[in-house]
Amino acid sequence: MPNQFENHVASGETLPCVTFPGAYPIIYITLNGAILCADCASKEPKEVVKHDAYFEGPTIECDGGCGKMIESAYGNLEEVVKDED
Ligand SMILES: [Zn+2]
Repeated sequence: MPNQFENHVASGETLPCVTFPGAYPIIYITLNGAILCADCASKEPKEVVKHDAYFEGPTIECDGGCGKMIESAYGNLEEVVKDED
């Protein structure tokens, strides 16, 4: 099965920031546990050990230092539950 991520790295293209199909945001997780946006992951593809569609959770700031905020597809559902206290 072709690996889309490896194909992108091999070709030197910028990694996708959303899934296809679905258009869900993608986060890239590095060896150190940092979470990168597609642009930062594209600069250090060898650091990336995992990438995943980001379905729900708080908006997170990219750890790559670019300041980009990554929003989950469905928002922070947990926060709503906590309010029931
Ligand atoms: Zn970034």
